[in-house]
Amino acid sequence: MQGDIDRILIPRRQIAQRVHEMAAAITADHTPPKMDGSAEVTIVPILTGAMVFCGDLIREIPIAMKIGLLTVSSYPGRSVSSQGAQVIERQLEDVRGRHVVLVDDILDSGNTLRLVVPLVSAMGAASVRTCVLLRKDRPASREMQVDYVGFEIPDEFVVGYGLDFNNYYRNLPDIVTLKRDVLEARP
Ligand code: 5GP
Ligand code: MG
Repeated sequence: MQGDIDRILIPRRQIAQRVHEMAAAITADHTPPKMDGSAEVTIVPILTGAMVFCGDLIREIPIAMKIGLLTVSSYPGRSVSSQGAQVIERQLEDVRGRHVVLVDDILDSGNTLRLVVPLVSAMGAASVRTCVLLRKDRPASREMQVDYVGFEIPDEFVVGYGLDFNNYYRNLPDIVTLKRDVLEARP
């Protein structure tokens, strides 16, 4: 697995520092008096990619929260180019009147957030904010309005810290690019 890495784009210590800052921003935005005293937060990681990021993030947000889960498939099979996003599973309790933060690993085409933000709004959430660890430098993702962004990265395919290639590499602690021959190899 280590031998498949081309280069480390964002090392783990830098990720941890930024996650800490993002958690502080989310906490501030969801703490009275900015929000009414009865504010209730529901954090919703978009699985599977946001699992690792969200696990670190929520442990630095010291406010009452519930967790909901949405599984969205945007890359059927092993393809690395974005295709239509689809909700394939949802475990969301009643979010009516609650302040929801949708957490995703990376903003690429924007298809995922364009799908899930209206879905959660339509369920009656009091507010829906969006949080992504990475935003790719491409026109489609720059157009999207996102509330919390960790890092802007070049338009390259990355894995690690929850992000996969063919469902592998999620457990790498750093965000990395893969060698060309690994990306091109047949399974
Ligand atoms: P979007 O729907 O914005 O095109 O893409 C969001 C989803 O596509 C992400 O949650 C992630 O699952 C996947 N994705 C987009 N770019 C990358 C990438 O560079 N690496 C990996 N591993 N997944 C990506
Ligand atoms: Mg995803």
